[in-house]
Amino acid sequence: MTRVYDVVVVGGGHNGLVASAYLAARGLEVLVLERRPLVGGASVTEEPWPGYKVSTAAYVISLLRPEVERELELKRHGLIVYPQDPPYFQPYPDGRYLMIWNDPAKTRTEIAKFSSRDAEVYEEYERTLNRLAEFVEPLLMLTPPNPTSSRIRDLLGLLRTARLARGLKKDLFGEIEVLVGSAKDFLDSWFESEELKALLCGQAVIGTFAGPRTPGTAYVLFHHVMGQVDGMRGCWGVVRGGMGQVSECIAAAARERGALIRCDAAVERILVKDGRAQGVVLRGGEEIRARVVVSNADAKVTFLSLLDAKRELPADFVRGVERFRQSGSSVKVNYALSELPDFTALSGSKPGPQHAGTIDICPSLDYMERAYDQAKYGRWSSEPFIEAVIPTVYDDSIAPIGRHILSAFCQFGPYDLKQGGWDSEKEKFGDRVTEILTRHAPNFRNAVLHRQVLSPLDLERQFGLTHGNIFQGDMTLDQLFFMRPVPGWADYRTPVRGLYLCGACTHPGGGVMGAPGHNAAREILRDFRSGRLR
Ligand SMILES: Cc1cc2nc3c(=O)[nH]c(=O)nc-3n(C[C@H](O)[C@H](O)[C@H](O)COP(=O)(O)OP(=O)(O)OC[C@H]3O[C@@H](n4cnc5c(N)ncnc54)[C@H](O)[C@@H]3O)c2cc1C
Repeated sequence: MTRVYDVVVVGGGHNGLVASAYLAARGLEVLVLERRPLVGGASVTEEPWPGYKVSTAAYVISLLRPEVERELELKRHGLIVYPQDPPYFQPYPDGRYLMIWNDPAKTRTEIAKFSSRDAEVYEEYERTLNRLAEFVEPLLMLTPPNPTSSRIRDLLGLLRTARLARGLKKDLFGEIEVLVGSAKDFLDSWFESEELKALLCGQAVIGTFAGPRTPGTAYVLFHHVMGQVDGMRGCWGVVRGGMGQVSECIAAAARERGALIRCDAAVERILVKDGRAQGVVLRGGEEIRARVVVSNADAKVTFLSLLDAKRELPADFVRGVERFRQSGSSVKVNYALSELPDFTALSGSKPGPQHAGTIDICPSLDYMERAYDQAKYGRWSSEPFIEAVIPTVYDDSIAPIGRHILSAFCQFGPYDLKQGGWDSEKEKFGDRVTEILTRHAPNFRNAVLHRQVLSPLDLERQFGLTHGNIFQGDMTLDQLFFMRPVPGWADYRTPVRGLYLCGACTHPGGGVMGAPGHNAAREILRDFRSGRLR
């Protein structure tokens, strides 16, 4: 007799693994099917060169929900995170630099180099963001209510959201500014120093096809400061063993709870009969039956590739999926180095604070805007924004002794280039990144032992991210909360009964967070309990 699983999860990204762990914990028979030879999706550690364990895509952690970390006992499964201190270092080729520390007094002294007024208000800025984070955080673990529905569950959800908003009192108005405004307007309202604004602005465009003057970028900035490491809000950390270790720990938790995980198992089609998911067909023809199918793939892959959209989905839903923006904007350049960069601004090639923080190359908001302007018209930025992290400063397990890894996350690289294709352009982009880093640290070029450039096209091919969008969908206001991924379909359910989404294309979106997987599992369990799936 054919085995029928309770749940088949399409994709072993970290969210698919989180969902599988919560579902298996309730005694359901769960099978995860991952197309790649390893689990983790965009949160993986790979070995592009012998002896170097590289976080090829995601490179730092902060957003992972503490409840997921605690409930899945990820520390027991081996998760070790080194908080970055200092969090940021922004060098200039002329010898100036700005460092942000975890110690407020040291940060104040640093900012005062550029503006004593900004040094005074910076702590209030952080306090305000923290208050807003206290409002938004409970929303992350909430299933977005549908404001057009009169179901009890949606009405209660709306009431809960309104209650949280009321708790903000006058901060509510600030929250609205954050949600709808541009990063530039938001930062201008706080600070006068171009150096500080430029440093903070990086977080506003990461993974987003937008410049600092684009409305909605203030929210992206906020999304990136909402996390924490070891209770330190806004802090980012380096994972021992690379970002794949996060996924491996979640996979271990899922297996411990009874989930089965199969790699090299690409799903070609989701089986649907009479409007109800029945299982999947793998590349090669193997059929696997299940009562529920949960897709960790992005919305376009799930609905436009794995289903026969015309036959199995309502036309207006298909239009919603087609309209859901997934603009590629990022290029990842990974390096193996023979020595640490020796910055003109803060000399030394022994590990120092200049190597421990996230190194931002973004001298001004106009620099960032110009980088975006080029991308807007279909060219990669000749002077890109670069955010670099050197995990080997913390972790001695990922490279040969004395060698280093540097992850350079760069913007902007539009998926669609006006001239040429990414396969011929990407090494030119990589050369440009090497040149800019060498401008700041003259020994950089000669220290490069290996280089890997992942264009938006590579991110699509390698990680299955449509157009290389790192969040499985732009994180703009029109695509958040009850609008993500399709208005009216933000509760992880889909028009096909028994088919759910659990990836970053759902609320609350991208980042190694685990929240979409957690929330999707809760809704699926609710449907099992209510008999909706019989
Ligand atoms: C270059 C880059 C840098 C980033 N940096 C950071 C960072 O530093 N910190 C951070 O928090 N976030 C970062 N992100 C974002 C973050 O990594 C993602 O938002 C997050 O990993 C999404 O997780 P997910 O599980 O929802 O989906 P994914 O990671 O996209 O996983 C989906 C999985 O489904 C699989 N799949 C797809 N189709 C099929 C199929 N047909 N059959 C079987 N399997 C299938 C894929 O192979 C993949 O494993 C970055 C992303 C990228 C790409």
